[in-house]
Amino acid sequence: MNTTCIFCRIGKREIPCDIVYEDKETLAFLDIKPHAKGHTVVIPKVHAETLFDLPNEKINAFFLGIKRTMERIQKALQPDGFNVGWNQNQAAGQVVPHLHMHIFPRYRGDGGGSMHSIISNPGTMSVTEVAALFK
Ligand code: 5GP
Ligand code: ZN
Repeated sequence: MNTTCIFCRIGKREIPCDIVYEDKETLAFLDIKPHAKGHTVVIPKVHAETLFDLPNEKINAFFLGIKRTMERIQKALQPDGFNVGWNQNQAAGQVVPHLHMHIFPRYRGDGGGSMHSIISNPGTMSVTEVAALFK
């Protein structure tokens, strides 16, 4: 645990939150400033700043916790869909430096966009040039 980390403290239940789902390794709670009805964040209880810092053996439990959380939201709120994702590092909008998955329940006609609306700046390299960097 990182004693100065707000999400570690929420994970330890030192700071109150509205719990959506909890198991041994995962806690899901309502976001304090929701962008959608039922906007929830899911955290691993162990401190990891980003996905790169979460040990591989913790990944399955984390993703299972995300699925269970979505199932609970589906049952309670009956959304028509979800956007699920996380901000990794400041450049991508991460404010709290403890890995957390955002779950945005979506409702027909809610006026929101898709993941594609986060960024539309592909740069000047062609897809072929970018592909070459992976070879
Ligand atoms: P980030 O930009 O780091 O991906 O998002 C952090 C999220 O955590 C924000 O949506 C913010 O509203 C939420 N948040 C920050 N502090 C608290 C808190 O103390 N309690 C709850 N429930 N949510 C928080
Ligand atoms: Zn933490």
